[in-house]
Amino acid sequence: MNIAKVIVDVPTSSTNQTFDYVIPEKFIEMLTAGMRVIVPFGPRKIMGFVVDITSESSFTKLKEILDVLDLTPVLTEELLELGKWVAEETLSLSITALQAMLPQVLKSQYRKELIRQTDDKLPDEMETLFAGRGYIPFEEFEASSISYYQLQKLIETGDLSIDYLVKSRITKKQLTMVKPAKATHLLEEALVDLPRSAKKQKQLLSFFVENDKEVEKQELLKKVNTTASTVKALVEKGLLDTFQQEVLRNPYNDEDFPRTSPLELTKQQREAIQPINESIEMNKHDVFLVHGVTGSGKTEIYLQAIQNVLNKGKEAIVLVPEISLTPQMVNRFKGRFGSNVAVMHSALSAGEKFDEWRRIHRKEVKVVVGARSAVFAPFENLGIIIIDEEHETTYKQEDQPRYHARDVAIHRGQNNNCPVILGSATPALETYARASKGVYKLSTLDERTNGKAMPEIKIIDMRNELHAGNRTMFSRKLKEKIEQCLEKGEQVVLMLNRRGYSTFVMCRDCGHVKECPHCDIALTYHKNSHQLKCHYCSYEEKVPELCPECESDLIRYFGTGTQKVEESLTKLIPEATVIRMDVDTTRRKGSHEKLLKQFAERKADILLGTQMIAKGLDFENVTLVGVLTADSMLHLPDFRSSEKTFQLLTQVSGRAGRHELPGEVIVQTYTPDHYSIELASEYNFNEFYKREMATRKVFQYPPYFYLALITVSHENNVKAVQTTQQIAQLLMKAVGNNTVVLGPTPSPIPRIKDRYRYQCMIKYRDEPHLRKYINKIINVFADEVRKNDLLITVDMQPYHMM
Ligand code: ADP
Ligand code: ZN
Ligand code: ZN
Repeated sequence: MNIAKVIVDVPTSSTNQTFDYVIPEKFIEMLTAGMRVIVPFGPRKIMGFVVDITSESSFTKLKEILDVLDLTPVLTEELLELGKWVAEETLSLSITALQAMLPQVLKSQYRKELIRQTDDKLPDEMETLFAGRGYIPFEEFEASSISYYQLQKLIETGDLSIDYLVKSRITKKQLTMVKPAKATHLLEEALVDLPRSAKKQKQLLSFFVENDKEVEKQELLKKVNTTASTVKALVEKGLLDTFQQEVLRNPYNDEDFPRTSPLELTKQQREAIQPINESIEMNKHDVFLVHGVTGSGKTEIYLQAIQNVLNKGKEAIVLVPEISLTPQMVNRFKGRFGSNVAVMHSALSAGEKFDEWRRIHRKEVKVVVGARSAVFAPFENLGIIIIDEEHETTYKQEDQPRYHARDVAIHRGQNNNCPVILGSATPALETYARASKGVYKLSTLDERTNGKAMPEIKIIDMRNELHAGNRTMFSRKLKEKIEQCLEKGEQVVLMLNRRGYSTFVMCRDCGHVKECPHCDIALTYHKNSHQLKCHYCSYEEKVPELCPECESDLIRYFGTGTQKVEESLTKLIPEATVIRMDVDTTRRKGSHEKLLKQFAERKADILLGTQMIAKGLDFENVTLVGVLTADSMLHLPDFRSSEKTFQLLTQVSGRAGRHELPGEVIVQTYTPDHYSIELASEYNFNEFYKREMATRKVFQYPPYFYLALITVSHENNVKAVQTTQQIAQLLMKAVGNNTVVLGPTPSPIPRIKDRYRYQCMIKYRDEPHLRKYINKIINVFADEVRKNDLLITVDMQPYHMM
């Protein structure tokens, strides 16, 4: 067993395989699959993952592994298998799939240190090596004669540990600490000696007379209500000392979270949790859909199910959309499980993320709450995976590997014989269809735990506003309601529903939107050619001068930014204070939380924002929610646009009247009769599901058909079209009669960075070898991809049609 099969960190299709290396004697006992190694590759030394260890190779003249980076595998056996599966499923490179499962830090350069974790006596040669030090550079160990195997044993027993110090970019976090420089009785004497006028200094000194301990500086300033200059004055007098102390980054202070205990479940909650508990009890894999209105107590179900999993000594993964991973949300999990919870959030620094990942890896926590990539948490005894707001499209990664966290979760659920819970008030059509067919187990919660009705949703027809001479973005009703709210000292959430830069053409008189006659999808406006195009089937036409429905000449393209809305809002209601939340105001780390906190502290009357304010927020003083343009998403070139509109309206409505005060929702739209808007205003998911399914069936979209999207880009327009055409033709020959191959069609964004983009879409129901065909066909172009800067990407089950 001295051959390692290694996947090397060279992301090209020609190196997308394992390479065999000889394991040098010193590593033989300790090297296992899942560790990272350094290997010679051509003239270079590169990183690679050991995926298997065998005794023979069909190659001769193998090179040796140069170095081993990990003493405990960073990828478990399950994750190695999962990586393989993800790569196959998404047609990605193996190395890309493996890298996606690890925190960024493990991909950069670092220095290793060996740290002593025990006061017990270590083996003699180890004691000699440490020579009384708490930690040593790893190189010292390598230079010694102690074996890796021996070291590994000591790491397993917890006597030693390895730390990775990242050389660049990430620095350790240091805090300034303050402590008394003298014994308490000496401080007391000094206190008496201080002049009466030095009030601040006296106050600070008395604190240390009473508390003989070190305190973090910022915390101290808050506690004693004093300033840094006061601290400095006492340091100069030799009464206090300051020093730097390193902290292991924990982005959430566990003491900040008051502990909560399980609530007595309602009848509906009990009925929902019972089959989940059975599945946990029997170590059985099942997928559950918990379809519950906002406020029906889904989160409480998650919490209690997790408790049962923990009682069995197992672990839990909870996925939450990035944007709902607010302190409020984290709070609920930390509140129940305290320091047993790790949080994986993209807003954390790379160092913080790494520290959280290590807490999971070292088995210091049993619950992880995180965004999409937390589905790869390196737990080895997984007892449940929960996906909250399972319909959210952010669960699909839009980069290689283009995986959907729901699919990965279900795969891991099968591997671990554990349940997967999907929760949502507005499940994805695919999910609900599976639940209806009994593939997933469905439980429905249609009552809020507080017994309150959902807030009433009023639809305002913006065409009438125009006819009445109101050309602002705010209907008279909405303006009136906002003013009433402000008078009562209550707060307002306003959402501008806008996504991407795609524009559509709409008649402002009658609301008519130009759609493709073949695809039931809004045509996209192309500014340069002044044409309308369909991005599914290449249909195109000139922008009409007059509305084909009502002959008005007010037909034009659409799109407004939050900043502009804020301006007109403050003009309209000058006394209102507004917090604006969009990509611009939340770019800086922590600004998202800060704005929300300000709003929660009632520092503004109105929270104005994009989609990002629709999710997970819970403000008790908010009684009015306004949606400014409910339509704007409806006409994106995306067959899911009705579904997304329905989901978003339902979700944002849930922000109003969550507590004692009753809530109200105003939805402004130019298409009040559209079923997604009408049915959302009635909270009628079932009817919406029926209507939307009928449409999907007619136009052959998911869940009736699967999709695959191939995008080709090249700087030469003709080259891009031709290649796409060739791919489409080859595919057509390969696939069955019932499979539809569409294209070449220009991508919705037809040129990015001077590259022309075309796409080919495949709609299929049963095509078991499709991935193989696609791979084969793409390989035909491998040479051109390498030499001619041609780019071909494949997205299996795309969510992002751009
Ligand atoms: P959802 O996740 O479905 O939106 P939550 O779990 O957030 O619903 O529950 C909404 C509110 O109801 C929360 O404030 C929660 O603490 C409370 N709640 C949940 N379950 C119960 C229960 N069984 N009894 C009383 N209150 C509950
Ligand atoms: Zn019209
Ligand atoms: Zn079309």
